[in-house]
Amino acid sequence: MRFSNVLLAAGFFNATFAQHNATSSVAFRSALRTCSLLQKSLGSEIVQTSGTEYQASASGAWSLFNAEDLPPCIVFPRSTQHVQVAMAAIFRDKIRYAVQAGGHSAMTGWNSVQDGILIFFSHMQNVTYDPTSDTITLQPGIHWGDALSQLSPLGVAPLGGRLGDIGTGLLLGGGLSYLSGEFGFSSNAFVELDVVLVTGKLVTATATNQYSDLFRALKGGANRFGIVTRYQVKAIHIGTEDDKNFFGGVILYPNSSAEALINATAKYVSTVNDTKASILMAFTNSVNGSEINSSHILTLFYHGSSLPNIFGDFLSIPSSFSQIGPVSYMDANSILGAGGDRGFGQLFGASAFKGGVVEQYANAFRAWTDYTNTIESALFATVLAFTPIIDAQTLAGRANGGNLMDPPRGNYAAVQIQTQMLAGVATVPTFVTTARNKLFSRIPRSAGFPLYINECDAGQNVFATYGKFNELKTTYAKYDPTRFNIRFSDGPIGL
Ligand SMILES: Cc1cc2nc3c(=O)[nH]c(=O)nc-3n(C[C@H](O)[C@H](O)[C@H](O)COP(=O)(O)OP(=O)(O)OC[C@H]3O[C@@H](n4cnc5c(N)ncnc54)[C@H](O)[C@@H]3O)c2cc1C
Repeated sequence: MRFSNVLLAAGFFNATFAQHNATSSVAFRSALRTCSLLQKSLGSEIVQTSGTEYQASASGAWSLFNAEDLPPCIVFPRSTQHVQVAMAAIFRDKIRYAVQAGGHSAMTGWNSVQDGILIFFSHMQNVTYDPTSDTITLQPGIHWGDALSQLSPLGVAPLGGRLGDIGTGLLLGGGLSYLSGEFGFSSNAFVELDVVLVTGKLVTATATNQYSDLFRALKGGANRFGIVTRYQVKAIHIGTEDDKNFFGGVILYPNSSAEALINATAKYVSTVNDTKASILMAFTNSVNGSEINSSHILTLFYHGSSLPNIFGDFLSIPSSFSQIGPVSYMDANSILGAGGDRGFGQLFGASAFKGGVVEQYANAFRAWTDYTNTIESALFATVLAFTPIIDAQTLAGRANGGNLMDPPRGNYAAVQIQTQMLAGVATVPTFVTTARNKLFSRIPRSAGFPLYINECDAGQNVFATYGKFNELKTTYAKYDPTRFNIRFSDGPIGL
């Protein structure tokens, strides 16, 4: 090493150790060495060890449990090549790592790392529309709200999520939107993906080229199959902000309507097959001092100019507030706010209920109520949410090449439990973990129906619930034969 480099490295180490309060683990020091080398090759704007941007990014994750880590460095790539350089060094030096796009993972450690390198996509946020191929190209750092507002004047949108602050990591878990009934999981709109494999090698995967197996695995494989640096997806012609092509909005209900809402949800899941309809039924408990306040929120939209009868049950249930009318697709995606609140430890948990068995839904409501009461002292709020996934959504996915979640035929609901801890609580108390495990054992999934990985608990083996689990395992073994990602990055279990 040249003398100037030794000085540089010494200064680098001192600053970073001060920053991290002299963390001395072997893993941390190894990562620090790799950071130093990366900083020399990529520069100190791309590889940061301290400073305002470093701090804001390290603490920027949506769940407080993921906003506590101070990695030795954060890589802020401006291009795919930067990701390749970083990943090749991480692989060579056997360093732990994590990737963060929109930051909304509620699974602790899935988008943050303490003794490793964080790749953070805040400088790769472009979105473009190509009318010739009728496709949209997204860089991984864009959030859905920004993508929609930039594309809205052109009348097109990508399939994404339902709240603006969420990011593109959603696509790798599948993706549920207000358009899912018509077009399937959001990842079904993939056309071409640039993927940096664990070794740093770049491949471009499509439905028909030599990487078609990887392409399929990325529709639900989450962060296990490589780092996607470019998503080319089909454009959906949804109209501009001025085109109020949807009808719907939000209805707020008192707790006295809960039983009727459970019945209506179970019935909706089993009977509604209209591809243009979508609902998100969220039961909420929030803690206010020693009181639990329960109120329930239905978001409903129809891709058309009025609401058909299929929503009739919900519309006849006594409500406390209602805002329904013609809206644009952008309006629909901001009706619940952006979802960007920070500062709370967050946990998800998933189940999957087929349509038809009302008691399954009622039982989930009771189990969730008991759960809320048990952990009340640690709690800000809990949510029990149902997103119907109709048969047509599954068929739309299959028609588009399919995905490895591969749900069986028939309507079902993705069931999500969200737990929002008291502000500032940075670790999960043991009694909460015990209560969560009990809750999950009380709400088992209907046989054969896959859990939704973007809404799961980190301890749930979601991959094992996929219809094409064996294919997923085979593809993983092919693209990461040394199991580097599993050994050096937190993410879904079971591969
Ligand atoms: C308020 C809220 C609302 C939500 N609404 C919806 C909804 O309407 N529909 C829905 O389907 N889901 C929804 N979700 C769930 C959402 O899909 C997941 O939280 C998703 O993981 C968020 O992606 P992200 O990019 O924001 O998060 P991140 O935490 O940045 O990423 C999620 C995961 O993907 C990995 N990852 C991200 N980018 C890449 C990449 N380019 N290459 C490889 N790995 C990558 C990360 O390492 C992490 O493990 C919601 C979540 C929240 C908190």
